[in-house]
Amino acid sequence: MQLRVPGPTPCPPQALQAMGRQMINHRGGEFAKILNSTTEKLKQVFQTKGDVFLLTSSGTGGMEAAIVNTLSPGDKVLSISNGAFGERFADIAEGYGAEVIRLSFEWGKAVDLDAVEKVLRKHDSIKDGAIKAVLATHNETSTGMTNRLGDISAVVKKFDKLLLVDAISSLGCINLPTDDWHCDIVVTGSQKGWMVPPGLAMVSVSEKAWQAHAQAKMPRYYWDFSKAKDFLQKGQTPWTPAVSIFYALNTTLDLMLNEGLNNIFARHARIAQLARNGVKSLGFSLFPEEEYASDTVTAVNAMDKIDVPKLIQVLREEHDVVIAGGQRKLAGKIFRIGHLGSVEDDDIKSVLEALNKALPSAYRHSERSEESQS
Ligand SMILES: *Cc1c(COP(=O)(O)O)cnc(C)c1O
Repeated sequence: MQLRVPGPTPCPPQALQAMGRQMINHRGGEFAKILNSTTEKLKQVFQTKGDVFLLTSSGTGGMEAAIVNTLSPGDKVLSISNGAFGERFADIAEGYGAEVIRLSFEWGKAVDLDAVEKVLRKHDSIKDGAIKAVLATHNETSTGMTNRLGDISAVVKKFDKLLLVDAISSLGCINLPTDDWHCDIVVTGSQKGWMVPPGLAMVSVSEKAWQAHAQAKMPRYYWDFSKAKDFLQKGQTPWTPAVSIFYALNTTLDLMLNEGLNNIFARHARIAQLARNGVKSLGFSLFPEEEYASDTVTAVNAMDKIDVPKLIQVLREEHDVVIAGGQRKLAGKIFRIGHLGSVEDDDIKSVLEALNKALPSAYRHSERSEESQS
């Protein structure tokens, strides 16, 4: 079975083998070695000299951790969103009592940087109205689109705001120089580009984020970065970690660093281009604006021609390929092919072949009956 959803992604044999190991004491020297080694390697992939923590949770837990560790109820937060995950980030902040200003763009459409600048400037000019933090999504998995985070960051930093970034489906696949782009917190999740099962969120924390942390009053316990930092000094995590996934991640990080970051980014860019060319040659159009199309997930318009659930079913049952549909308001309107982490050119070529074979059974009834009449 070829799993080509945008997470969970396939695990290479080395990762599966690593997870077959017996349990160890998570408060002992052996785990400390694994934790320290994993953390150091992660810093290289995050391209940061700041702190990196591993939290036992899915990616969303990392997003929640970013919010509760840096903000207080009542803080003004600007959410820049053009998809389902951008909205989730805003919802979390709102759930914890932040005053969220939602700058929402049409799903699949680019972020208007002038609009971002305008909102930040306007609120800075209001007495006690200043925005404290900006929430951004690097790769919007729901629409198959990569936002220009470097450009967004340049605007946010002009106003000296905290920048909290959901890079769950981009980090380790698409270039994101955390320190160079002044990202204060960057969040990712193990089941995306990291080639290991779900269960770990990884977050980076800048100096500026620590300063915000010292003032932040949102309720927190499990997610507290101070606890994570204290325990990391002892080679531990505050709570029992997902030990098996650490075994796997420590192994796949070696694979990643051996391949080299630039080679990884180039491989994802090349395979994404294959995917885009392939679906276009089958007569489809891309959902997002093409120049922003993601290198980790390709979102394709079903164009009322295709019964998406049927397509997904036929691909799975007759061609052993698993792809994803659309989320929320895009359900039935798009389908998505994940190509992140452990993926080679041949994998996408075989997905495209399967798609070509499955399409005739997925055309909508009306079209089929029209065809049979003609
Ligand atoms: C997958 C994903 C999430 C959610 O992660 P979970 O691990 O399901 O909690 C959030 N944001 C983006 C951009 C994602 O791709």
